[in-house]
Amino acid sequence: MALFCVNRSKTGNLVGILVAWPMYPTRVKVADVLQARGWQMFNLSKRSKAHMAGIDPRLIEIAALAITLTVIDFGIPMNGGLRNATTQEILFIAGKSKCDGIERRSNHQTGKALDFFAYVNGKGSWDRLHLAMVAAAMYQAAIILGYKIQWGGLWKFKDFPHIELIE
Ligand SMILES: [Zn+2]
Repeated sequence: MALFCVNRSKTGNLVGILVAWPMYPTRVKVADVLQARGWQMFNLSKRSKAHMAGIDPRLIEIAALAITLTVIDFGIPMNGGLRNATTQEILFIAGKSKCDGIERRSNHQTGKALDFFAYVNGKGSWDRLHLAMVAAAMYQAAIILGYKIQWGGLWKFKDFPHIELIE
């Protein structure tokens, strides 16, 4: 079962991700996913769920379905969901966001964005390939649910742990 295919440029940078949707547009064989995971079931932790409080319910639905589809476990970090202007400004000053929260507002401030991290071998991973695999599951979930999202890993200024809703 081909879940995804990652392209790499000559310099080794991740340049894109192609997802083989036509093979199973709406249905995924649960056994195939479980086999790829080594028969592990993944669940969003209470902490991850708490970090999604207040965001657009469509993103919560996407994350809840994606955790059943992904072959790489993932979680939602603190400040990965809804942010107020102050939190956004703190992240901006810390160099963790390009949005200062006032002049340049983040989609996290309206609850239309969600950040995630991969969870591999018992610890958090921000490896681009791991994040791309999680993003593939997010896209897959969004398509099944009929919502449109965009992954930050496909932007000019890469934001690999980020997805947001397209209205
Ligand atoms: Zn983000």
